[in-house]
Amino acid sequence: MHELPLTNKILDIALDYARKNEASRIVSVQIGLGVMHEAEPEWMNKYFAWITRGTVAENANLDFRRYPVIWFCQKCQKPFKDPGEKSAGTFCPECSENRELTLISGKEFRVESIIIS
Ligand SMILES: [Zn+2]
Repeated sequence: MHELPLTNKILDIALDYARKNEASRIVSVQIGLGVMHEAEPEWMNKYFAWITRGTVAENANLDFRRYPVIWFCQKCQKPFKDPGEKSAGTFCPECSENRELTLISGKEFRVESIIIS
């Protein structure tokens, strides 16, 4: 389970931000998470509720903003959204190429905003 270290990292960032801004409470933390990232929001919510006890982040919400999988075809010089059919592999819808693809979105993991009070 690598959700726990990731969730600890989120809390560190949020607490550091709250300290610098002299906040009395952290209301919510928005997390940008690509759909290809292996972290499960459900587990992160559980861990977060547990590790925030006794901190200014207690009862804060984690809001997940999910990012779709987007590839860029080097041949067509165009991006396209992954249809999500994993068994079929990923092919450019324009030229059917599957080797000149670069992943440009879908594996994000970042703290995007923190709401404090
Ligand atoms: Zn193409």
